[in-house]
Amino acid sequence: MSNPWIRELWRIAALFGGVLFIGWLLGVPHGAFTLALMAYLGWHLYNLYRLERWYYRRKKTEPPNAAGIWGEAFEHIYQMQRSNRRRKKKLATILSRFKESTAAMPDATVVLTEDDQIEWFNKAAKRYLGLQSKQDVGQRIDNLIRHSRFSEFLAKGDFSEPLEMVSPLDAQRYFAFRVVPYGNQQKLLVVRDISRIKRLERMRSDFVANVSHELRTPLTVLSGYLENMMDDGGSELAPWDKCLHQMQGQSQRMTRLVDDLLMLSRLEDEEKAALRDPVAVPAILSAVLDDARALSGTRAHQISLEVDASIWLRGSEKELASAFSNLVFNAVEYTPGNGSIALRWYRNDEHVCFEVKDAGIGIAAQHVHRLTERFYRIDAGRSREHGGTGLGLAIVKHVLDRHDARLEITSQPGSGSVFRCVFDNKLLIKQKSAGSA
Ligand code: ADP
Repeated sequence: MSNPWIRELWRIAALFGGVLFIGWLLGVPHGAFTLALMAYLGWHLYNLYRLERWYYRRKKTEPPNAAGIWGEAFEHIYQMQRSNRRRKKKLATILSRFKESTAAMPDATVVLTEDDQIEWFNKAAKRYLGLQSKQDVGQRIDNLIRHSRFSEFLAKGDFSEPLEMVSPLDAQRYFAFRVVPYGNQQKLLVVRDISRIKRLERMRSDFVANVSHELRTPLTVLSGYLENMMDDGGSELAPWDKCLHQMQGQSQRMTRLVDDLLMLSRLEDEEKAALRDPVAVPAILSAVLDDARALSGTRAHQISLEVDASIWLRGSEKELASAFSNLVFNAVEYTPGNGSIALRWYRNDEHVCFEVKDAGIGIAAQHVHRLTERFYRIDAGRSREHGGTGLGLAIVKHVLDRHDARLEITSQPGSGSVFRCVFDNKLLIKQKSAGSA
């Protein structure tokens, strides 16, 4: 008989049967039955009392021994208790191993709650961020890392890209802050020292900037002499005319290349925080329109400009002018003569946009995502023909990054392209004079 309840029923039957039989012999069957009932109830109460007492001190002792159904119940509880203990031990080992390995990691690791309060951090976090064991647990992380870019990064909640910024403790070191959301609204903040990578990047960009700078003077001298020779060479240099023209064309191309390289390294170097000035974009665009018409010349493109004159932007005038003119000049260069080019400066609920729509040669889909790479050109010959450097869209991308904006490109080979700069509304400055130019 393996079922404990059947055994229990037999026990009850035997107890009550025996007591009733004796009661019947003695002539008091009712009294005997009541006595048996009370004894049985007493036994249950007693075991209930033992269970309650044991539960009270359960950490130290094993459950009490008992006969019958209570014995079974105690045994089950005991087994449950043992497997819980084993599981707890296993979890504690896993947790302590996790903590040991994270503590030994060279990157700073901080566990944050939903409200960005510090829950736990490793040794590297003490070194990198100056966190102190006891008093900093429970504090908000942005109260301890006091830097506007870090607070903005946390508040924005977009953690797809790490935040790279100078160390809060040492201006010579550079850190990458990465936030990984996990579990129940918690976040893991991982801080990596990227000073070495930054140093290398700086060396590379310094090198490019220095070379470009050094090339500037010889180029100016060469261009100057070439110009003089072409202006005053007279009949002696007439046979060299074609050659001189080519030399001048190439030296102008090199000058543009050097200028673009210098512009790019400046964009990489300068602090983003400097971009706070109000910029009169409508005025920039009407100047760009004039330049574009001059560039188009006899090719007579139909260039139109639709501007919301009430929209100004917070940023850098020089950079925005450079980005917008790059896009517009590309449209002129990659659109056949008489083709239409439409420029628009407008806003909607969330964004402010500058759009250049051309009816040019268009771009095949496989090239679109690579266009902003340096020196990426679909047709290098055609680009060189019009004096392109292959750096224009790289400059555009850098300028937009620095204004927290993005470049959207849609294109259809053969029918034209749309290049759209999308700025966040928070950079918008509304002017009183509204209207279209
Ligand atoms: P480039 O000096 O060669 O124009 P950019 O960086 O400005 O360099 O542009 C990169 C490449 O993107 C160009 O070589 C060209 O192939 C393509 N491109 C840029 N703008 C347009 C456009 N409006 N229509 C078609 N292709 C374009």
